[in-house]
Amino acid sequence: MTADNGQSIAPGGTIGILGGGQLGRMTAMAAARLGYRCHIYCPDEDAPASDVAAATTVAAYDDLAALQAFAQVVDVVTFEFENVPAAAGEKLAAWRPTRPDPRVLHLTQQRLREKNLLSSINVPVARYLEVAHKEALPQAVQALGRPCVLKSASFGYDGKGQVRIDPETDLGPVWQQMGGDLAILESFVDFQREISVLIARGHDGAMEMYVAVENQHRNHVLDTTIAPARITPEVAVKAEAIARHIAQEIKLVGLLAVEMFVTRDGDVLVNELAPRPHNSGHWTIDACNTSQFEQFVRAVCGLPLGSPERHSDAVMKNLIGDDVRDWRAILAEPNAKLHLYGKTEIRPGRKMGHVTRLATKSS
Ligand code: AMP
Repeated sequence: MTADNGQSIAPGGTIGILGGGQLGRMTAMAAARLGYRCHIYCPDEDAPASDVAAATTVAAYDDLAALQAFAQVVDVVTFEFENVPAAAGEKLAAWRPTRPDPRVLHLTQQRLREKNLLSSINVPVARYLEVAHKEALPQAVQALGRPCVLKSASFGYDGKGQVRIDPETDLGPVWQQMGGDLAILESFVDFQREISVLIARGHDGAMEMYVAVENQHRNHVLDTTIAPARITPEVAVKAEAIARHIAQEIKLVGLLAVEMFVTRDGDVLVNELAPRPHNSGHWTIDACNTSQFEQFVRAVCGLPLGSPERHSDAVMKNLIGDDVRDWRAILAEPNAKLHLYGKTEIRPGRKMGHVTRLATKSS
């Protein structure tokens, strides 16, 4: 196969992935099926992705010499983890096609930057204020009203670094509980449901979107995804239009998960963006014509995007910590598809795998 204008990386090429977790693992598995090799770059030995990849570089994300050596042996660079230092992203982009552009990572690796961007392009979000230091907190809480949520600006991952402020909450310890860093204070959204939309966009601007799904969290970590979401067609149309608008505005090349709240009035507010495969898209492996991981590979390598059509409805349940011990019972279920990430040590809160249960497609 041949490349077109240097935009496409044909099967046989090597995809460099920063990050070695389960998202990298499932990307490498999808890439291998299309004839690509994956080279993982991450700081950990024995990363889940390394088990299934052609090569791994074990080095820190800010080790520019190691990044340069990595760039020299891959055809395209992508990320399964967005908290890569901006300087590393810029260097990589200078050496090799890097998708999505590191500018997109920079936007989404800090909650304030992300919310400011969304507001500037008229995407609805919960009311929020920047809180730069502890002394500014009481006034900000007064301005937004309780309940509200104080979140660390820099750590936008799985609910870490956030504290809910209720009417009776003593503000004294809240700043330290959150992490004592630059923060964003958000109004608490009394949502009806949490949903997400996963959209892929190619370098030519073509876009494909999966049906909106519903997400249920436990201890701030995704527990269950229900596909499709139990929402009205009007809400689905709003959510899809928002995802399309964001993907276009940030000139995405790759995959973007848009996490949203559906309010009791049917309004849709964006909570968070993730410019990579997302846990709420794992169900697509077993229930759609093209999985999110294959779609990601297609977008990053400049191939035509695949059909995101689903052939089944699905409920995806994360296997967190000891949940994974149920693997034998899950294997015995006729409609269950088990995915284990090869992590040897079970720890509370650790994502060890997931199970997708399929059902006949609804309308
Ligand atoms: P985040 O780390 O921002 O994705 O938040 C993790 C989870 O906390 C979300 O999926 C929600 O369940 C909850 N949450 C975050 N922000 C808010 C908010 N402003 N109002 C209500 N719940 C929230």
